Amino acid sequence: MNELDQLYQQVILDHSKRRIGSPLVETTEGLLHGESHQHNPICGDQIRVRVELDDQEHFTSMSWEGDGCSISMASASVLAEMLPELTKEEFLGKRDYFREMMRSKGNFQPDEEVLEDAAAFVGVSKFPARVKCAMLAWVAAEVAMHEARK
Ligand code: ZN
Repeated sequence: MNELDQLYQQVILDHSKRRIGSPLVETTEGLLHGESHQHNPICGDQIRVRVELDDQEHFTSMSWEGDGCSISMASASVLAEMLPELTKEEFLGKRDYFREMMRSKGNFQPDEEVLEDAAAFVGVSKFPARVKCAMLAWVAAEVAMHEARK
């Protein structure tokens, strides 16, 4: 394993322990909020994601609770750290880029300016059975965004 792979593994391990954004927080009055529960039957990961947005379509927070493998939990933590301040459009752009990386089977040089800590999941893309683990929080956040109401 090279140094970058080791560093990325450490980022995933740290996030799986820190679980930024977990547990769920109460919704804030005046903001739009949406929630989504997603399940990954291949691995058994479960996640419930709650997002809040302001009237200008900026995310203000993401909180979540879940149970599953360290990849799925770390991915939710990374996303919860990244999401606040993004617009819906910026989130969808990063989601597309992350998904492209996860479908690359390891043939990808992630731009850390775009993905921040989510770049650490590039190695996971070599293992097709684990791609869903890494994508789960992103899927939940997108559904929650579309559901968001006052
Ligand atoms: Zn998993």
